[in-house]
Amino acid sequence: MKTEILKIEDLSTQEKDISRAAEIICRGGLVVFPTETVYGIGGNGTDAAAATAIYRAKGRPSDNPLILHLETPEQAEKYAITNETYYKLAAQFMPGPLTVILPKKDTVPSTVTGGLDTVALRCPAHPVANALIRAAGVPIAAPSANLSGKPSPTLAAHVIDDLSGKVDMIIDGGASEVGLESTIVSLDGEVGTLLRPGAITYDALCCVCKEVRVAPAVLEGLAKNERPLSPGMKYRHYAPRATLTLLDGDDSSIKAFMRSVATTKGIGLLCYNEEIPLLPTDSTLFPVGAQDDLATQAHRLFAVLREADDHPNITTLYAHLPPKDGLGLALYNRLIRAAAHTIKKV
Ligand code: AMP
Ligand code: MG
Repeated sequence: MKTEILKIEDLSTQEKDISRAAEIICRGGLVVFPTETVYGIGGNGTDAAAATAIYRAKGRPSDNPLILHLETPEQAEKYAITNETYYKLAAQFMPGPLTVILPKKDTVPSTVTGGLDTVALRCPAHPVANALIRAAGVPIAAPSANLSGKPSPTLAAHVIDDLSGKVDMIIDGGASEVGLESTIVSLDGEVGTLLRPGAITYDALCCVCKEVRVAPAVLEGLAKNERPLSPGMKYRHYAPRATLTLLDGDDSSIKAFMRSVATTKGIGLLCYNEEIPLLPTDSTLFPVGAQDDLATQAHRLFAVLREADDHPNITTLYAHLPPKDGLGLALYNRLIRAAAHTIKKV
């Protein structure tokens, strides 16, 4: 398949381009589009065949459900059984990087939900994503636009690497602002369960829901034979080619450890910007941002993991173990998966 790359420079003058992309969705094709979290690989969310095509293009197991992307929170009425808490969350966080899980209606093919009787709903804030959904006139089913097992794409170049020749169109809308996938919360009445942390933090959800539980798999690995609340949790995600180990200790111990291994052949360090001048000039560094700037670390994380993958000689990577509060929880959750839960105390 030939993949068209469409660059959006000025949405206000490119209405025809968006209409063309929407036509592809409506006739059952696949379009990769930018969102504020990561890039998504989209198809018609009411068409089981389009969902099957998404699983195939990504190489994703078909029991790992897709997220239904809507233009407005109210469109959920057609696809899910909503409740008051959904609308309270929507008023605070939609459009934005929040996905809500609700009981599904028959209008959503079970292929989209991986056979589950619930559906994941999100209203993206990115103007290109929003324009595409509006023009298509249908909800767009989309997971992240990476090959299964690779880090989620935050630049069109990442998508081109992974999905060229496998989708009809890739829309290049620049770098994804957040850089980590949406927060996922499952709702049972007023009680929420956090299934995947993201830019909408646990504390932010607590301001709206009566109670927010944290699914154990957010912080830990799944026990053998444990059934995950979110099917995506059971797959090893975001695995870099090199072995990644997270360093747990105080700042000075971590710096000392990094300095001691920095020039060893094959080692790369995901370091804070402040650490660059403290490490030998011939070490291989992948700066993630300033120590206190978690938003930049989130924005850069997946791009940095891909840079490390593209580096010819790196076999071992070390990174800081993120804090577990605020946006740190989302970074922690992605990094422990990338590291297959390998933590070294220093
Ligand atoms: P991705 O955007 O690639 O991260 O994929 C969507 C994520 O949403 C997957 O990890 C799914 O497991 C999760 N998800 C989608 N639908 C549901 C659902 N009905 N229940 C729980 N998790 C879901
Ligand atoms: Mg994904």
